[in-house]
Amino acid sequence: MTAAHVPEVDRVAASQAAVAARQARAAVKNDLAIRVRSPLDVARAAWNEPGSAEGTLRVRELIGSLPGMGPIRTSRVLEQLRIAESKRVGGLGVRQRDALLRWLSSRENVPIPPRRARLVVLAGPTAVGKGAVSGYIREHYPNVHLSVSATTRTPRPGEIDGVNYYFVSDEEFDRLESEGLMLETATVHNAYRYGTPRGPVDEALNAGRSVLLEIDIQGARSVREAMPEAILVFLLPPTWEELVRRLIGRGTEDADEQARRLTTAKVELASQDEFDYRIVNREVSQAARDVVDLMSTTQP
Ligand code: 5GP
Repeated sequence: MTAAHVPEVDRVAASQAAVAARQARAAVKNDLAIRVRSPLDVARAAWNEPGSAEGTLRVRELIGSLPGMGPIRTSRVLEQLRIAESKRVGGLGVRQRDALLRWLSSRENVPIPPRRARLVVLAGPTAVGKGAVSGYIREHYPNVHLSVSATTRTPRPGEIDGVNYYFVSDEEFDRLESEGLMLETATVHNAYRYGTPRGPVDEALNAGRSVLLEIDIQGARSVREAMPEAILVFLLPPTWEELVRRLIGRGTEDADEQARRLTTAKVELASQDEFDYRIVNREVSQAARDVVDLMSTTQP
């Protein structure tokens, strides 16, 4: 029967029932949020009665209610448990129930470790918008320490020495390197040298502040060697076409330089599997939040 043939009175009743179901689910979510009920308790209720408010709750809402489970980690857990994003708790198959039950049990018995300051490395292909994301974090998340790199390239219009970069000569860069003052260095786009001064990173971490490095992929690899506990994040463009558009649209490089950077970008994209997390930069504020989310969650 199509909607047009459903008697008015039935349609009203159906929509009232839908509202009531939504309200009941909201009440369950609220109980989870204020820890009146545990996720395990809600999961058991869902499996006793799959049509209940608990049963029609999405698994991602259940997992996401746990402390430290931001949207990215929730997706990772769903992937690990082989449960689709849209699945409802009552609709899980036997194996999925078992996997979720075991995951929740271990999670609830294990005391949640205190939050620690994290070193997060944000890398990704040229022109993907790393600068925009880290700029947004600088402005909106002042607790995060943004590392200021040293570089031998000259400043672009508007760039400030000591804020965007420390603009140094080749000789000064050599000195910083030879005195062991750099955490990592790299020559980027076969042109200029870039590096992360070590001191400010150590200081911030020791003071309990999370640190963000916005560097290239070779740099990310070096940081992983030097500090294996670092979290490596790869920022992705929504599509390749969008990346090309962003690079050309920026208008800061001439045609030769653009071509060189696109070639580099292809090589860079191929290395994304080496990273712990991938974040798609559709919208800068959301990507920034996803990055900061990783800093404030506990790691397995
Ligand atoms: P740009 O010249 O456009 O500011 O940066 C060029 C590239 O150098 C970007 O991919 C940027 O992430 C990278 N970069 C900036 N600072 C550092 C750094 O300290 N170390 C490394 N390895 N790469 C950096």
